[in-house]
Amino acid sequence: MRKLMIFLLLAGLFLPVSGLSEEDFLLGVRPVSSPITPAYRSTYHPDHENCYWCTPMNLENEAAVWGMLTAPVTVVQLNKDPLKSQMKQTVLYEAPDDSSKKIGMVTGESQAVHVLETREDGWSLVETYSTSFFNSKVKNYNAFVTGYIQSGKLKTVEVNQHYGIIIDKLTQRLYLFVDGHLETSLAVSTGLYNPKQPYNETRSGEYLLLYYRKGDLPDGNMHCYCPIRFNAADYLHEVPCIVPAGGKRSSANYKPFETVLGQRASHGCIRVQRRTNAKGYKMSSLFQLLKEREDTRFPKLVIWEDYQSRQVVIPPDSTPLYYNPDGGSMYHAVADCPGVKSKFWPLTAFTYGELESEPFAGLTLCPNCQPSPRKAVLEEINQVHRDTSPGEVMSYWP
Ligand SMILES: [Zn+2]
Ligand SMILES: [Zn+2]
Repeated sequence: MRKLMIFLLLAGLFLPVSGLSEEDFLLGVRPVSSPITPAYRSTYHPDHENCYWCTPMNLENEAAVWGMLTAPVTVVQLNKDPLKSQMKQTVLYEAPDDSSKKIGMVTGESQAVHVLETREDGWSLVETYSTSFFNSKVKNYNAFVTGYIQSGKLKTVEVNQHYGIIIDKLTQRLYLFVDGHLETSLAVSTGLYNPKQPYNETRSGEYLLLYYRKGDLPDGNMHCYCPIRFNAADYLHEVPCIVPAGGKRSSANYKPFETVLGQRASHGCIRVQRRTNAKGYKMSSLFQLLKEREDTRFPKLVIWEDYQSRQVVIPPDSTPLYYNPDGGSMYHAVADCPGVKSKFWPLTAFTYGELESEPFAGLTLCPNCQPSPRKAVLEEINQVHRDTSPGEVMSYWP
């Protein structure tokens, strides 16, 4: 008992202190540090480092996150042509036997698996999030599954060493890492499920940004620009717009989708902010950056599940915000927000603690610099995640 107490005391002394400050970078929303990993549901504890599955879903430890984002992945090869392989899926079995129960789906080439055991009988035990779609053989939507696959189908792939991307379902943000540092964040919408369309939930996991599609991804009169495919049918793309036949793209076309950024809203794809943020990034510039990368290996994209008990940081009341007292309707994270004409710079400072009082109570969140949502919005996210794991509602464990 005494030994345990000394250990806890020492452990407390060496707990990593957050290296992030509100001024250093403008994340808008970030997760509270916790020990929860993507393999939270696993009963296995492999002894290795730098792995997506075993790295806690925190942003504070940049070195640990960067190690994870640049580590090789194990994927499934289903065709010699990577693009054809990525359009195929295979199953995971309950036992090392292809007549046993099928328990989950894996997409070829771009979806990684966590290898737990390589057996002498030609089978491997792996875990991953089942990437079931509406027409998949196994309908186990976004479930964390542990199962068997033939070892011959697995291959290890080196990944890009300059860029890495995290999507956090909890914060509905994209975090871009460049050369070991958290460079910026953009607001996103991941999939919104309902009982009739459980497959809308974006499949979590570890992926490669493999296919950079030319032009847009049309769906009726809905157009999604800058599409990068990371799964058989899931893309990272710009927030969609509705363009009627013969019409043109305009800001109004984006509005219905843009106003829900920062919340679940899509059919499974990841919609990303199109307006320039405080550091000059937006989905179209990210697309160019990744497509024209010098290191031709594919960048890694990881998706963090919003498990129960994960929480978001409520910013301190002293956090600076900005607005234009001369008729501005929005609040901003920076005094020189690219969403505001430069003749209004620098914007006037106030604080996050004053946001609910006049004259700030009616200001809306700027879709460019994406400052922190209001306290009530963040508290609602935390309340929901105290009781549930929203992304897992439609999963089952075989
Ligand atoms: Zn691991
Ligand atoms: Zn702004």
